[in-house]
Order: sequence, then C-alpha cells, then structure tokens
Amino acid sequence: MGRRQVSGDARKIARERIVILFARAGQFFPSYSEGSDRCVALARRIAMRHRVRIPRHLRRRYCRRCGAFLVPGVNLRVRIRRGKVVATCLRCRRQRRYCLGRRSNGQTHDT
Ligand SMILES: [Zn+2]
Repeated sequence: MGRRQVSGDARKIARERIVILFARAGQFFPSYSEGSDRCVALARRIAMRHRVRIPRHLRRRYCRRCGAFLVPGVNLRVRIRRGKVVATCLRCRRQRRYCLGRRSNGQTHDT
C-alpha cells in the first residue's frame, strides 16, 4: 500500500482524461463558461502531475495566460494574415501566432 504504480498506463489514462475534460468544457460553453474554465484548469493540472503534454489540437483551445477555455468567434478572435493565424484571447488580450498549413513540430521534448 502507499506506493502507486507509475506506468505508461497512468499517463495514457491521464491523456484520455484531458481529452474528455476538454470535450466537457466544450459542452459547458457558453452557458456555463466557468465550468469550461474549471475543466481546463483540471486538465492542465492532470497534465502537469503526470508530465504529459496536452494534445496539440487542444492546446489551442485554452489561454495559457488566463486559463480560459477558448471558442473561436466567441472569446477567441482569429485572424489570418499573410499565411499566419493570429489568435487573440478576448479575456486577457493575449495574442498567439501560428503558421498556417505547415505543421511545425519544433517543441516536442516528450520523454
Ligand atoms: Zn487569456
């Protein structure tokens, strides 16, 4: 007792829970955006605890600064300029830029 088994399974489950939490965040939104934000916060905590990365497509769905669950056209303004996507969180005004088309995969340091 006491010693928890740390295996690949735990991380796999953590990843699945993150995906589920984001799906739930989407269901809460927009009627209960606080619930959405809480799901995001929980997902981030799980990711941190298990040292797993939040899947790339989900990383665009929340704001790293204020933790808001982001929905394009609602609290996320998305503009495309010269082949680049400029996404602005309308809660804290943080901007993020992505490249369009090309999948840049420069930030993987997964163990
Ligand atoms: Zn924000």
